[in-house]
Amino acid sequence: MEIKRAPDIGFCTGVRRAIDILERVAREQGGVETLGAVVHNQQVLRKLADIGASIVNSVDEIKGSRVVIRSHGVGPQVINQIQSRGIDIIDATCPFVKRAQVAARRLHQSGFYTIVFGDASHPEVKSILAWASDNGLATQEATVLSSLDNPPRRLGILSQTTHVPARYARFIKDIIDYALVKDSELRIIDTICHDIRRRQEDSVKLARESELVFVVGGHASANSKHLVELCSEITTTRLIETAREIRRSWLPEKGIIGITSGASTGEETIDDVVTRLKSFTRD
Ligand code: SF4
Repeated sequence: MEIKRAPDIGFCTGVRRAIDILERVAREQGGVETLGAVVHNQQVLRKLADIGASIVNSVDEIKGSRVVIRSHGVGPQVINQIQSRGIDIIDATCPFVKRAQVAARRLHQSGFYTIVFGDASHPEVKSILAWASDNGLATQEATVLSSLDNPPRRLGILSQTTHVPARYARFIKDIIDYALVKDSELRIIDTICHDIRRRQEDSVKLARESELVFVVGGHASANSKHLVELCSEITTTRLIETAREIRRSWLPEKGIIGITSGASTGEETIDDVVTRLKSFTRD
């Protein structure tokens, strides 16, 4: 049995950047608050807490004079709310999310109704729509458009940054089918993150040569679930959050076990998975 990692796994560039900013500011200032958790990985949050990085869940809860915005970003209303309290903003919004926010603002300013292909409850999607002044909706089903009371003629389409490109393409085709009978004007923007796109491609390649793939990521993580869906089409795939979840009985007698990870999984968690797998192979 061989254990093989996909290249460039661990934190994505946006999460790595946000953690680096948070660590630097917390060390320089002796502590700092973030609006929402920077990752959902408990190991990482404990380490950040040790150097004084604490989490607040709303602007009203901020006690200090500065706050870090995490990689998911926030809408302009939240920024105004923070600034009106005289609190400094340290912006760790991922540049790919920022790109989607700017696109949403431009669409709105040009009179387009914004459709974000993604999970409406995800903080990043909410932040993108907020930059379109919430003049739009987030959905994964193009049919939602037919249920609108006054269907808009000008439609701007964006994607959640972590979505699967092929699914976004199918969604766009469905929107075109809907729009072609309504004199619509469409503007389509590719806002899928480069890091996620590469991670998906690498994971699919790894799945093709593996008997079993472990996706190491949060059970609620959207980008990890997308990796599981893509790899499951090719080989047996399991989503695990920690090494402790692995069962000996899952492992094949021979062949390759592939390891890939979601965007907010740290190297240490992946190393733990490799160590546990190796311990089984030594039995
Ligand atoms: S997954 Fe992509 S868009 Fe999201 S934080 Fe990471 S680099 Fe940025």
